[in-house]
Formats: sequence, structure tokens, C-alpha cells
Amino acid sequence: MDKKLLKNAAIQSLALMLAVIVLSFAMDRYRAVVISAGSNSGENIARAEELEQAEDLPDNEQNTNDNSKTENDNAPVEDTIDSGFPGLFKDTDKDITDKLGERFIIIKKPAGNIYSITLEDIYISKSIRLTLSGGGILNSSFIGRYYNSSFFAGEPEYTEYPTYETKEDETVETVLVRDYGQDIVHGITITSSPVNEEDEYETEILLELNNVYVHTIIEDEAYYYILLQEPAKVYERILVIDAGHGGKDAGAISKEGHYEKEINLQIVYFLKELLDQEDIKVYYTRLSDDTVYLRPRVQLANSVQCDMFISIHCNSNNVSGPKGTEILYYDTSIGGIDNRRLAKIMSDEISKAIPLKNRGLISKEKEDIYILNKAEVPAALIETGYLSNSHDLDYLLIEENQKAVAQGIYNGIMKAYEEVND
Ligand SMILES: [Zn+2]
Repeated sequence: MDKKLLKNAAIQSLALMLAVIVLSFAMDRYRAVVISAGSNSGENIARAEELEQAEDLPDNEQNTNDNSKTENDNAPVEDTIDSGFPGLFKDTDKDITDKLGERFIIIKKPAGNIYSITLEDIYISKSIRLTLSGGGILNSSFIGRYYNSSFFAGEPEYTEYPTYETKEDETVETVLVRDYGQDIVHGITITSSPVNEEDEYETEILLELNNVYVHTIIEDEAYYYILLQEPAKVYERILVIDAGHGGKDAGAISKEGHYEKEINLQIVYFLKELLDQEDIKVYYTRLSDDTVYLRPRVQLANSVQCDMFISIHCNSNNVSGPKGTEILYYDTSIGGIDNRRLAKIMSDEISKAIPLKNRGLISKEKEDIYILNKAEVPAALIETGYLSNSHDLDYLLIEENQKAVAQGIYNGIMKAYEEVND
């Protein structure tokens, strides 16, 4: 408990420090702003106007000379010229890069006015999409990244080596793995389209990263700096909620033609409404009818080091007899809440919330269930009911009942958190 408090205090003071740094930049000549993911472009446009007005101010050199007597003044020009970064990035502001810490992306602003920048976190594919409105054309040489004293720019380079995976039918499959070394960017796709006759573009930059991060954008006149932090160091509580199947994969299909993927998603929507009220960072493997493979689902859970990975499904059988709710789990303990205990809490709480038969827990083994087998975090798979049974199916098709299932899962999550925190 004390450790947890200490960790929280440390995170809070780090956040405060960062806020102070950002604020001091903002008040300083850098006029830095923090843009959180998905922020509206209105404030960015306001900032662009601010920048335009700022053109009239004395330039950095004069500024420095005017105030050269006090130590707390703006960084001397020499400091901003040689940051140790090569090529396009060598005039990077050292004051900023020093404070961004061990991991960040840096983007050289293209020529011309940029009216806004937005960042979309596509965490299921460890990617971010930046959209620049305005400015001229840019290419991958404008995109640098820094990690652990290594600097990279341009297209990421990799070496490939084969790994061997044994499949369920005992055959061995060769999978080529790419090694990017210390480079945190594993793919760059840039799409620019002209918006007017004056060489202004809308540019989308899709960056595949080596992991899922929390992003903070800071800017000065020449660059955008994107600070990347590990979610577990930023958020106290993290969940990954998985709506089973989706897109091309319908999951179970009832003989009346109802798709499992749709019921799973409906339950997740209602669960999201409940979790949105809580101070928990929740990553969803999908929130629409998308095709998502099993590997990225469990990789998301592992990479954000969530407290619980909850997968939501409906069951099916060749015969119509079996009915009720089952919780699947692997009888292993990885730290945090024990898998079996998590499954038991889920089973109890869902059973309290809905009238479907409680079929209890099912312990799985070996490679039965890919996402449970590969999970390095506490995980449970909920089979809410049987679509092959008309009683269960009729129940699960009604919205109010989907809400009740979501409430049961939510109650289970909150109960599990209580136990972990005790
Ligand atoms: Zn399923």
C-alpha cells in the first residue's frame, strides 16, 4: 500500500513537473502548447494566430543579447544550435529535448503555416495518426526519434530473422521477425493532399510504434516533439476490454441468423458507459464491427500491462440443450489478481446480475484459448450464454438484458479491484 502511495506521489509530481515545464515554455518565447490526443483543432488555430503575431517580436538572438545578464533567461543561442542530433534536427532546442526524457518523436515542421495538428491513438495496431492541416510537403526524413541515447531519422531500418512456431496440428510454421534495434518507429506512411493553390497540404502521418504509449505533444517554432510514456507509469488503473470476434469473423451464429459479434459489442458498449464514470484507463480491442485478429488483442493487453484483460463472448453448441454462463480462465497466477479468483468473482457477480444459469468456471489448458494462453496479465473470458439455446438467445437479444450483463461484468471488475487494493 505504501509503495503504491509512493508510486502515485511520484507520478503526480512528475505530471506536475511536466505541466510546469510546459507552462513555462508556454509563457516563454517557445509558446509551447500541449495537445492531447484527439483535441479539437480550434485551440490549434488560435495558437497558429498567436504564432503569426509573434513574428513581429524580436528574434531569439536579440532576445538573448538583451537579457544576457540573468541566468534564468532564455537559453543562449549556442545551446539551440548543436543538440547532438544530425541533419535536419541539429538546431533542435536542447532545453526541450533534455526535458522530454528518454523517449520521444520529433517532427520537423514543413515550410508554411500549419493551422492544426491532431493525434489519433490507434493503439490496437500500436500506431498513431498525426494530421497536419496546412504547411508544405514533408517526407520521412522530417521524422526523427530518440530513445535511450540513440537517434534515428527517415525510414526505419531492420534486420529479419526466422522464428519457429508450433501450431495446434503439430506442424511448424516459420515466422519472420523484424528487429528494429533501438528504433521506436517501425513504420512510416505519409499521405499529403493539396488543400489550395498556395502549396498548402493536409498531411497524414501514420507511425507504427514498438509499443502502446501515452502521448504529449509539445512544439516550438521549428518542431513538434511527441513525448512517449508507458501507460503503466501514467495511469494507476488500466483495463483491456475485448469484444470477441468482429468484422469478417461473426463468431457463433444462431440458427435464426443472429451474430455473436454483435451481441458481444452491444454488451461492451453498455460496459463502456459504466467504465467511463470511473477513473480507469480502458483500452478496447474494438468499438465497431472491425476484423481484429487474436494476436493484436492479447498483445494490447500485454503491452499496456493492464490489471485485467476481460474478453466477452457468447457460447454455442451443436445441440440446443446446453445453456448458461461460463467463465474460462488459465489456472496460472501472473501477479495482480489470481486468474482463478478473477474468474470466480466474475461468475458470482454476473450470476447476481442476470437470471441465466450459472455454469461456473472452466479451467483451460495448453493452447486451447489463444488469448488466455498468451496473456501475461490477469485474464478471463466470459461466455455470457448459449446462442444455440433459445432461452439464452432470447434473453441476450434484449437491450435491457445486455445492460444487465454489462452491469454484472462491471461489478466484477470493481470487486476485483477492491481485492487487489486490499
Ligand atoms: Zn466467441
